[in-house]
Amino acid sequence: MTAQLIDGTAIAATIRAEIQAEVEALREAAGIVPGLATVLVGQRKDSQTYVRMKKRACEEVGIASFGVELSAEISEADLLVEIEALNENPDVHGILVQLPLPAHIDEEQILGSISVHKDVDGFHPVNIGRLAMKGRAPGFVPCTPRGCIELLERSGIEIAGRHAVVLGRSNIVGLPVAMLLLHRNATLTVCHSRTADLPAVVRSADILVAAVGQPEMVRGDWIKPGAAVIDVGINAVDDASAERGYRLVGDVHFEEAQAGAGALTPVPGGVGPMTIAMLLRNTLDSARRVPGSA
Ligand code: NDP
Repeated sequence: MTAQLIDGTAIAATIRAEIQAEVEALREAAGIVPGLATVLVGQRKDSQTYVRMKKRACEEVGIASFGVELSAEISEADLLVEIEALNENPDVHGILVQLPLPAHIDEEQILGSISVHKDVDGFHPVNIGRLAMKGRAPGFVPCTPRGCIELLERSGIEIAGRHAVVLGRSNIVGLPVAMLLLHRNATLTVCHSRTADLPAVVRSADILVAAVGQPEMVRGDWIKPGAAVIDVGINAVDDASAERGYRLVGDVHFEEAQAGAGALTPVPGGVGPMTIAMLLRNTLDSARRVPGSA
């Protein structure tokens, strides 16, 4: 059996086209242009790249972007003032603080200061709390986990009643994706660095979501024949034959998994493109909640 490829690049392009049409319709009907503010503290090259990609993605679908670039030396108090200004700005419907923040700033304090109504990353404790509870819809679902679920659903993969195994329990991926699977009636197992006999647990998965940050850790013989595999991992491994001297691999050994899985995401081109598409979706959802937009 060769796994069906779950093409995140193509699915994300479809979603961006849907968003573009909905943004246009909202503008025509209510005169509202969704706006996303990105807050970048410091000069980290990777963070600068992520912020640039997010701004470009906004432009492509007609979402206004507001870039706030601040010195790495900014005090926590001054950063809170900047965020409060964005909370008050009616043209801004979503606020994204690019992580990580410099060590002297308390990340939890900053994420908690973003208005719960503009928390398009879905990391505000209130949104995470609602996500964890039965029957309490969060205002926003974190983007990468939401992207994983979209990939499954748009690929026609049944979730209800199936055994889902999530590798990893981080606040940004493992934990929220586990909650989303549970809400869709999967029977759930969450694994982490202290899980005993990981291969045996993974072998019982009908749906596997791997988010551990360990290159190609999941081998082909860990995967139940026919299982759906969503590989969230993005890991750079040395490769002298590659132009940049490295290549990107997931947490799953792609070639081995391809032989037995029923469906599989590639890395790159799987979950990655979905994360930004879901950020755009969350920003549009937020703008739609403005009174008079319906
Ligand atoms: P974290 O490092 O925050 O969490 C990793 C999780 O994996 C932890 O729960 C950890 O367990 C567990 N883990 C680590 N090693 C092992 C192991 N050997 N066996 C079992 N469990 C293990 O990572 P993130 O959740 O932030 O990211 C995970 C991966 O996803 C990374 O490769 C990251 O680059 C990628 N990523 C991709 C995104 C995308 O858009 N595609 C977005 C975000 C992340 P414990 O809790 O016990 O320490």
